[in-house]
Amino acid sequence: MKTWQDILKDSINSSAALNAYFNTQHTSIDTIIATYPMRINSYYLQLIQNAGDALWKQAVPVEAELNDPVCIEDPLDEENLSPVPNLVHKYPDRVLFLISNQCAMYCRFCTRKRKVGTDKMAITSQTINAGLEYIRQHPQVREVLLSGGDPLLLPDSQIESILSRLRAIPSVKVIRIGTRVPCTLPMRVTPELTAILKKYHPLYINTHFNHPAEITPESSAACMMLANAGIPLGCQTVLLKGVNDSPEIMRKLLLKLLEIRVKPYYLFQTDLTAGTNHFRTSTATGIAIMRSLIGHISGLAIPTFALDGPGGKGKIPLTPDYILTRGDSLVFQNYRGETCTYPESGDGI
Ligand SMILES: *Cc1c(COP(=O)(O)O)cnc(C)c1O
Ligand code: SF4
Repeated sequence: MKTWQDILKDSINSSAALNAYFNTQHTSIDTIIATYPMRINSYYLQLIQNAGDALWKQAVPVEAELNDPVCIEDPLDEENLSPVPNLVHKYPDRVLFLISNQCAMYCRFCTRKRKVGTDKMAITSQTINAGLEYIRQHPQVREVLLSGGDPLLLPDSQIESILSRLRAIPSVKVIRIGTRVPCTLPMRVTPELTAILKKYHPLYINTHFNHPAEITPESSAACMMLANAGIPLGCQTVLLKGVNDSPEIMRKLLLKLLEIRVKPYYLFQTDLTAGTNHFRTSTATGIAIMRSLIGHISGLAIPTFALDGPGGKGKIPLTPDYILTRGDSLVFQNYRGETCTYPESGDGI
């Protein structure tokens, strides 16, 4: 049986390999991937049914990445919000700690496209030690989000080393791992890895699925193994034009996630990341999708639709507006569009 390392080695990362596989003639891809790398491992590759489908769009570069008229390299101002390299401290009580520059696939819409998978993202034992030391010196940090890149592309021993050192810091109450591996390389979730992760509870994992076709027997098995280790699983989906920007696809994705024991957490409005403008929808599209879901399907399946404020201003929820008027009574529309009234209590503030 092929190991996850074999599957990863067996990745398409040049136009020649891509054209040979799909019988296409893309010539400009090598110029794009000199800036923004491509990696389509053999597992994700076989999920792509046709050139141009929703999975292809997430994985295969297009020229628009190099001709983005609108967006900027670091829209969330992460570099300025990093007191030490690869650690973003934006909110008072939690930090984002980048511990890997590798991913099982390089998503074309990645918010950290400026550096993920390139040597611009230098992660060494020194940067990891400096990050741990910063967390030790800042006891207000009660939650650490491990991200990258993908933390689960590190070898088991390195994952264990980082988790154990984090757990030795008493002020760190919660560890959260952001990983796309359950979707893009589910065979990375091995019994050995799971046995390590479960030693460091409370540990949460937020994974990242964008399309119902990404939910397969393999990805279900990976999520099942993690959930059986007591790890609560959330999902951070990105709203992507031409991939999942329709009520039908989103509904199918969210309901399937619940079936594989993953609770939808965020649906993100696309960030203003250079090279991703062609994926951006209007916020109205996302709000309309949310309105089509809320009340119609299980509340468990409903993520928070969120916009991450440009300049590192933080995430805000974008919610459909159900309220018609406020006053002595709150007048609102329900999910079916019926008008309802709730009399206020009179002790108003
Ligand atoms: C998104 C993010 C977080 C986590 O935010 P939650 O709302 O708790 O999921 C933390 N730090 C940074 C820098 C972030 O971008
Ligand atoms: S897995 Fe996440 S970090 Fe890696 S390329 Fe995709 S979106 Fe970016």
